[in-house]
Amino acid sequence: PKIDPSLHWPVHIEARISSSSKCRFDTIRELVREHVCSEPNLILPSEITGWENVKTLADNIERITVTESACPLNILPTSQAELLIHVYQPSDEGASEEVASASGDSPGEEVMAASVYELPSRTLEGLWDSLIYPDEIKSKLLNYIYATLLLSEADVDFNVISWNRVVLLHGPPGTGKTSLSRALAQKLSIRLSSRYSHTRLLEINSHSLFSRWFSESGKLVQKLFSSVNELCEEEDCFVVVLIDEVESLTAARTGAMAGTEPSDALRVVNALLTQLDKLRHKKNVLVMATSNLVQAIDSAFIDRADIIQYVGLPPREAIYEILRTCLMELIKKGVVAAVDVPTLIQADVYSKTARDVGQSEQVDHILLDHRERSNRVGLRLLRLSEKCKGISGRTLRRLPVLAHARYIGDPIPLVKQSSTTTGGATVSVSPGL
Ligand code: ADP
Repeated sequence: PKIDPSLHWPVHIEARISSSSKCRFDTIRELVREHVCSEPNLILPSEITGWENVKTLADNIERITVTESACPLNILPTSQAELLIHVYQPSDEGASEEVASASGDSPGEEVMAASVYELPSRTLEGLWDSLIYPDEIKSKLLNYIYATLLLSEADVDFNVISWNRVVLLHGPPGTGKTSLSRALAQKLSIRLSSRYSHTRLLEINSHSLFSRWFSESGKLVQKLFSSVNELCEEEDCFVVVLIDEVESLTAARTGAMAGTEPSDALRVVNALLTQLDKLRHKKNVLVMATSNLVQAIDSAFIDRADIIQYVGLPPREAIYEILRTCLMELIKKGVVAAVDVPTLIQADVYSKTARDVGQSEQVDHILLDHRERSNRVGLRLLRLSEKCKGISGRTLRRLPVLAHARYIGDPIPLVKQSSTTTGGATVSVSPGL
């Protein structure tokens, strides 16, 4: 498609500053803007380079990336970009534990009910990009949530436009729902950094709430949410509550009604629903829930979810991309010999033109020229992707470990390393890939 020269496209730019930086965000933002504007075009998405030559940026910045834009092209003249620059300083802290006790505060009767992360967090950096979904699920979800948050900021009348601040992600296990929720929370914390000085992610451990203190679970839910309420009282803190495997909290009511579960279960669900209803009036909170079993969730909870997104098993394109990124990581870290790993489009083109595919099995890869090796790797990844249909993202990300374990004890042929291998490290081509 051609770009209408009279249109401007919003483009999000993320500038990550180092933990030691004391520079004002506004100053950095303006310098980043100046630097980006000096580029004639923006590649969407991409990493911006060249800022190392600007002293203040070199002293404070770690990375500048061009991230989301609705522009349908992958290159946009900078003059047509409306730059939305988000400066953020990720926290180096890990998770802290939120402990709740049901009966009094006696030690030993406490349950680790939630983990709290300061966002943006360094541990969540890169997670968003590592998740691969079809149909722009990620950016649609992000835009949707972001839009509703902007509406709340604009103080729209709640009686006219209402929104419960609840998002539900459901689908088979291992499809990245928890990771996606965390990554979304991280993205939002970056996007909202100019409005909220910090963001907290509170991850509720549904299982632990139920496991030991079943009869006290209703009270625990209440206690937990009162800490959420406390967090929300800080006006410049944005709070994301993640309820993982929400079905274990809410499946109970159906059972209770059928007379098969004790009434405690009912109390838990009711407590959860009441607390959620209270939270919807807060501007600075978002509840994300994940479920492997949407049928098991209480319908009253489903009714409260504004966005219900199915997250399915990865299709062919996503499988190839997951395997490709795994292979590139192994190459980057010197575990397998360096080779250009083709994109799916490149691999598809080659597979159509390759005359004698079977031959590739017989050839010693080290002796092939650079281009040919790259083509053959693409072909193998293509075939592997076909075989991996129906496998979850979690299993796919485990495959390199299994492949490596399988060949780890095998003797390595004494062949001179080709010039394409990395540095001075001893590298071998894992035959499994
Ligand atoms: P779920 O909550 O759906 O059970 P998780 O969020 O625990 O899944 O994901 C497990 C692992 O699988 C994560 O490390 C994630 O990176 C990986 N994974 C799952 N689906 C995908 C995907 N579509 N793209 C990339 N990685 C994925």
